[in-house]
Amino acid sequence: MSSIATLIENISTGAAGRTCAPELAHEPWTFDLGVPGYGPGASMGDVLPAASARRGALPERYQAMAPAELDERIRAAKAALGSRVVVLGHFYQRDEIVRHADFLGDSYQLARAAQTVPEAEAIVFCGVHFMAETAHILARPGQDVILPNLAAGCSMADMADLDSVLECWESLAALYGTEPDEHGRVPVVPVTYMNSSAALKGFCGEHGGVVCTSSNAQTVLEEAFERGQRVLFFPDQHLGRNTAKRMGVPLERMPMWNPRKPLGGNDRQALLDARVVLWHGFCSVHKRFTVEQVQRARAAHPGVRVLVHPECPMAVVDAADETGSTDRIRTIVAEATEPTTFAIGTEINMVNRLVAQFPQHRILCLDDVICPCSTMYRIHPGYLAWVLEELVEGRAVNRITVDEGVAQHARVALDRMLAAKPRA
Ligand code: SF4
Repeated sequence: MSSIATLIENISTGAAGRTCAPELAHEPWTFDLGVPGYGPGASMGDVLPAASARRGALPERYQAMAPAELDERIRAAKAALGSRVVVLGHFYQRDEIVRHADFLGDSYQLARAAQTVPEAEAIVFCGVHFMAETAHILARPGQDVILPNLAAGCSMADMADLDSVLECWESLAALYGTEPDEHGRVPVVPVTYMNSSAALKGFCGEHGGVVCTSSNAQTVLEEAFERGQRVLFFPDQHLGRNTAKRMGVPLERMPMWNPRKPLGGNDRQALLDARVVLWHGFCSVHKRFTVEQVQRARAAHPGVRVLVHPECPMAVVDAADETGSTDRIRTIVAEATEPTTFAIGTEINMVNRLVAQFPQHRILCLDDVICPCSTMYRIHPGYLAWVLEELVEGRAVNRITVDEGVAQHARVALDRMLAAKPRA
């Protein structure tokens, strides 16, 4: 089974198949400054905030190394460091990175996994910026958290910045007031998806809010509705809408807040009637999936089970057989006892890995165009080799840190998430 990197390389030289961006065949540093925004991949149409890193540093000698040499250097550096380092690999990372990971998982699973290795002096997070921040929030004092390529942000997380959320919060406070109702419920509870900056997790902790993952979003919303009359959910509109709809919240009571418009683009009454105010954010990887793709899969493969991630648009979730987090999708495939055809709507590196891991099933991606997450793909083995060899030399480069004041509030929001239990 070829890795996604190899498939894209082959497509770019004329082999069969389609990719959204043939430039993905080149190493990230060759296009870092030559292309706008987040660079090739699913987020290439999104607007990169001006202050974001466009390019991650990488010494030239690493840029010249062949894949086999990088692979060998990563192995050697990890062996030299032993338990002084733990390498975390997100499900959406390329195979050339994942093979070196001590843990593979989604963002919160990985941050928790790192806590099981307290002796590690450094946590190397092969994922994106907000994930490294979460790992630092949960890390023991003195542990370094390293993001191999500082240009690996997340376009969805970038769609909700603290200033815009504060403006929204003030507008809602002016509309709803700040006093609880007769049941003791506050006017609005802020809920942030794990895929958000540490600053927003801190904001939630400070304002009675909570974090959620794609696995526990419903449990968290149920708890939030017990404490509040309504929820402000950011940054992913789709996870918020899909979850609230499953809970029976009518669509007309889920207005969307566009931070570039007065009152988020809503009239006062729509906001007064709201149960969930959805932030205008989305994941460009999961936004690519369509109802037409689901219909094509059903026509081509009668009996197919369609599994999609809840970051997909509502119509796609409605058309699918099941929806779940990356871990849930993996579990459904792993637990299928009969050979089954699955059509999956999530990031292509993960789907490709499921194909290799479960040969008894026929597994395909709903989208036949290979289009990985732009920023996950920025973690090339060259960066991993560099940061590990720097650690061998006693230097921690590309450290991600969260101010302790922010981290304290963020831990409060994470603790509220852990305390939320499914309702009977
Ligand atoms: S897959 Fe989507 S949410 Fe995840 S890092 Fe990429 S852009 Fe962000």
